[in-house]
Amino acid sequence: MKAEIVTIGDELLIGQVVDTNSTWLATQLNQIGIAVNRIHSISDDAAEIKSILDDVKKRVNLVIFTGGLGPTKDDISKKAIAEYFNLELYENLQVLEQVRQFIHNRGFSMNELNRQQALVPENSRVMINQKGTAPGMWIEKDGFVCISLPGVPYEMKDIMIQDGLPALKKYFDTPFIVHRTILVHGISESQLAIRVEAWEDAIPKTIKLAYLPSPGRIRLRFSSVGKDKAALETAILEQISALEQLIPEHIVAYEDTNIEIVLSQVLREKGLKMGTAESCTGGRIASKLTQLPGSSEWYAGSIIAYHNDLKTKLLQVPPTLIDEHGAVSSQVAEAMLLGLLDKPPIEVGIAVTGIAGPDGGTNEKPVGTVWIAVGNKKEQMIEHFQLGTQREQNIERASVIALTMLWNFVKQF
Ligand code: ATP
Repeated sequence: MKAEIVTIGDELLIGQVVDTNSTWLATQLNQIGIAVNRIHSISDDAAEIKSILDDVKKRVNLVIFTGGLGPTKDDISKKAIAEYFNLELYENLQVLEQVRQFIHNRGFSMNELNRQQALVPENSRVMINQKGTAPGMWIEKDGFVCISLPGVPYEMKDIMIQDGLPALKKYFDTPFIVHRTILVHGISESQLAIRVEAWEDAIPKTIKLAYLPSPGRIRLRFSSVGKDKAALETAILEQISALEQLIPEHIVAYEDTNIEIVLSQVLREKGLKMGTAESCTGGRIASKLTQLPGSSEWYAGSIIAYHNDLKTKLLQVPPTLIDEHGAVSSQVAEAMLLGLLDKPPIEVGIAVTGIAGPDGGTNEKPVGTVWIAVGNKKEQMIEHFQLGTQREQNIERASVIALTMLWNFVKQF
């Protein structure tokens, strides 16, 4: 079962408004077993609407429009769609009453434009809008379903949740699409593919596996389609258990999440406060952590010591150590960490020093050389990484690796 989504509005085409309606609709449709074939954005233009309908009908039997249902002159969807299906508009008394109530509750009285909201195409099913005045429409013709919804995201979502999604599920008797995503860290995409090759080859054809890599991490998404949701979930879980035997040290989470959330959960559980001493990551780790609501519970803060003098002043790294080994060295990473751990209330921490690039590399220490230290006052783990040549990628990867190292360290307590 396939569908296409058409979002209408000049504001989308000039880049004034980001089309979030399609993303939401695609996710929801997917969850009820309807795959989205194409997503289109078109202007507020009747000819465009009619031409896309001609086009879409050739490929799929469901189209969902959003936008252009309002009472203003530029909102032409309703008229254009009704004309396309040769349907007259009539005043629907139920909608009229609902619009009247809505306007009344806001302390206004009805005007002519409000009244026009009650005009709907004959032989269509009205989808009541409890959050606004423009109703949705469900038109069926020769097995083809056309749904038209208001553009305002919260109105559109409410109509779909209350009415559209359950009705579509029933009408098309759709199967379930089950997705499960796990988070894998500390291994590259190719290394992972080689390591799990035999397992991957043996996955039943009914389960699809997708690798979704980003710097420092890979999300593995399992998907399966069928009528029995519980059976689909069990079959996917069996595959995940088998994978767990092969790469136990790399699986960070069994859901679609990120390492900062996973780390924050362990810190909270163990009642630990962490801090960060960042050089080449320039605060990226701190920024990731402080984006989480409630982070002050387990995150004390960061010292961004970029210049060597600040490493000495703020983290008590001895200048002789920097002279002897260079700022990017195991010794300096360790000293940064120890300096950080001397600052209450920090109990566990991360220190990162490296050469993000594109300049600053040498033969001995090329761009991408990074040292990361994690630990507490008693025990420290220091590791060297040779990342790539791209500055942004290096900063992101070093940040993700550092968070993963600290997660590995704290979870053992
Ligand atoms: P209204 O009754 O408010 O006129 P409408 O159905 O005519 O509703 P539009 O006029 O097309 O909808 O859009 C109303 C507002 O909804 C836009 O200004 C925009 O902020 C938002 N919007 C419209 N389409 C989208 C979309 N695809 N994604 C995100 N927001 C959207």
